[in-house]
Amino acid sequence: MATNIPLTGSFKVTCEYKRKGTEWLAGWHTGIDLVGSDTIYATCDGIVVRIEKNDKSYGNFIVIEATDGRYHWFCHLARIDVNINQNVTRISKIGIMGDTGNTTGKHLHYEIRNASNKYADTVNPAEYMGITNKVGTYNSNDYQINEIVTQGELKTLARNTNLRSKPTTKSEATLYLENTTLYVLEKSVAEADGYTWDKVRIRVNGKEGYMINKNYK
Ligand SMILES: [Zn+2]
Repeated sequence: MATNIPLTGSFKVTCEYKRKGTEWLAGWHTGIDLVGSDTIYATCDGIVVRIEKNDKSYGNFIVIEATDGRYHWFCHLARIDVNINQNVTRISKIGIMGDTGNTTGKHLHYEIRNASNKYADTVNPAEYMGITNKVGTYNSNDYQINEIVTQGELKTLARNTNLRSKPTTKSEATLYLENTTLYVLEKSVAEADGYTWDKVRIRVNGKEGYMINKNYK
């Protein structure tokens, strides 16, 4: 089980998304401020695309590009526990809450930017998390989702490879090019034609099928 919430157990929203104020360049709060358990989890399946230390505003922060193309920002961290280009899922521990950068105390500033990844081009992170966009106390146990169970391991094709409708080279084929990313849903589902086959889902279009298991990197 997993959630879209970066904290576990009981936590507080101390400043909601879109609160107006001159302390923000945009004139409003572009993320949501959370206080709770120290360990921060990824809120999406994706790739770590940016890590910064000691930024004047955001302190130590991580940016994850989610599989839907949005960018999730985790700011003011005390510690960063991931590396650049690392694949993460909702159960990945990515860092420890802190008070680095421009803050009045220990908290997580969590923000979701659109595909543009521009400042102030954001979506409502409370809505994504499933909670009300209001100061208050919440419990992540009330917002569990099931998606992670079938998500699988993120892989990249090392060469052009056919997605097959069945785990055999005699079945219907669709060619996918090198560097296509996919999830391995089930490993070694069959041995056929001298190969071991995995059940996979292509990340960009959600198509499911079978691939020979030695073509990933
Ligand atoms: Zn904030």
